[in-house]
Amino acid sequence: MIEFVDTHCHIQFVDFPLDPEQVIKDAGKDGVTRLIVVGCTLEDSRMAVEFAAKHDNVWAAIGLHPHEGAVYVRDDHALQEFRELASRPKVVAIGETGLDYYYEHSPKEDQIKLLRFQLDLATEHNLPLIFHVRDAFEDFWPVFDTYKGLRGVVHSFSSGLDDVEQILKRDLFVGLNGIMTFTKKTEQLDAARAIPLEKLVLETDAPFLTPAPFRGKIGESKYVRVTGEFLSQLRGESLETLAAATTSNAKELFKLL
Ligand SMILES: [Zn+2]
Repeated sequence: MIEFVDTHCHIQFVDFPLDPEQVIKDAGKDGVTRLIVVGCTLEDSRMAVEFAAKHDNVWAAIGLHPHEGAVYVRDDHALQEFRELASRPKVVAIGETGLDYYYEHSPKEDQIKLLRFQLDLATEHNLPLIFHVRDAFEDFWPVFDTYKGLRGVVHSFSSGLDDVEQILKRDLFVGLNGIMTFTKKTEQLDAARAIPLEKLVLETDAPFLTPAPFRGKIGESKYVRVTGEFLSQLRGESLETLAAATTSNAKELFKLL
C-alpha cells in the first residue's frame, strides 16, 4: 500500500471548518496514514498536543508563528507556558517558527527574537524545527547559522533554486504542498524538480492551499496524495517511489514511531 505523511496541517484549529475525525478517516483511505498538527499560537499549540494525545497516528508540533512576534515577545507568562508544552508526549517538533517579511504583521526585531526563543527551545529538547520563511531568507540564515546541529524542514517552500541550495547546504528538508499544483511560476517548479528525493517531505497546510483541481474547497490531509501525484509527474518519479521516500524522510526527521 502507498503511504503518505501530512507533515503540516492545522486540523486542530478551533475554527477548522470540517470534522477533524472525518478528515483523518478520509486521509487514511487515500493512504495518508500519519499527520502532524502544527501550532501557530500558544492556544493552538496546546490544542495540537491534546489532539495528538487522542489519536494514534497524529503527532504535534508546537510553534509561535512570526506573525505573532509582537504579542509573545512581551508576554513572559505565555512564553513560559509554551516552554512547558515542549516536554509533553508526542511533541515531535518546534514550529511553525521563522520570519515573514511578506506580510510583516510583526516588526522584524520581534520576529527575530521569537525565532531565537524557539531555536533555543528546540536545541534544549533536541527537537527538529518547522520553519515558515517568507521573503526573509536574508535575515533568517544569519540567525540560523549562529546555532549548531539544528534539524528541520522549510515548510511550504515556494521559492527558487538559490534558496533550495541554501537549505540543502544546511542539511534541512524541504516541504512541498498544493502551491506546486497551481503555481504559474516556472522558477518554483524548477526548484521543486531540483530537490533531492532524500530531502523532500509532503504536506497540505490544511485548511489552506488546497491543490488543483480542488481549489475553492477546504484543504484537508487527504490532498497530500493529489500533490504527490502532481510531483511524481513533474519530477518523473513513480508515485510509489515518491511516497516511500517522503514517508521515510518524515518518519526519520520527526521520529514518528
Ligand atoms: Zn501552516
